[in-house]
Amino acid sequence: MRSELKKLKYRLSRLTETPKITCTLCQEKIYEFEPLDKHYLEMTAKYGFPYALEDAETLNVTAYNCPLCGGSDRDRLYALFFNKSIEPDKTYNLLDIAPAKALAAFIKKKKNIAYRSADLYMPEVDDKVDLTDMHIYKDNTFDIFVCSHVLEHVPDDKKAMKELYRVLKPGGWGIAMVPIFKSATEIKEDPTVTDESERWRRFGQDDHIRLYSKAGFKERLQEAGFEVKEFTTKDFKKDAFSANGIDPGSVLYIVNK
Ligand SMILES: [Zn+2]
Repeated sequence: MRSELKKLKYRLSRLTETPKITCTLCQEKIYEFEPLDKHYLEMTAKYGFPYALEDAETLNVTAYNCPLCGGSDRDRLYALFFNKSIEPDKTYNLLDIAPAKALAAFIKKKKNIAYRSADLYMPEVDDKVDLTDMHIYKDNTFDIFVCSHVLEHVPDDKKAMKELYRVLKPGGWGIAMVPIFKSATEIKEDPTVTDESERWRRFGQDDHIRLYSKAGFKERLQEAGFEVKEFTTKDFKKDAFSANGIDPGSVLYIVNK
């Protein structure tokens, strides 16, 4: 009901205009995507984080959130990949780690996907699970996993990647994404840093304990056993990125077992 009210208010606020964009996540018509919250820019500037947001690999600062479902540009990118990869006559077991609301709602609409969410702290998930010790799941359980913007929070990310590899079926795939700043040349990490201003300065957010380089991230995934593939604008339909508010330089990391 609340979302219906939100939709109505949104339409009433701009009655003279015609919404021309369809959000690929919620399928609603919208006027435009909303920019990234200024708070993030203010905090990184305040604490002296050395990378510019323009240096972030998959981030559309000016067209970030859907005003109705709240989904981000990266969520829309994943939705595009689901739409092109999910075969209607197959069934899939999917594990969503620390689910993003709009993407979870999008995935759950796919009737041939058995959806399961997991997190150590989020109260509403199906399973309360430590990513570095997912013993509640047997080996080779899932056809797909989503692990987006999680590993930069996890002290032992190598162990987490090994666990993701273990629970994925051979032939399965996963979305493995972390914040990447293109000019970063090596992984910087320190789980012992607990001071929030220090975390902002070094890792770009108050709850991050690591900043990945592109090469470093891929190497760690490969060390865990994964084959890593990069999907860019050329792997999708022409204009798919621009129509969905996805920055043309965005890269989707898909890992295979
Ligand atoms: Zn939406």
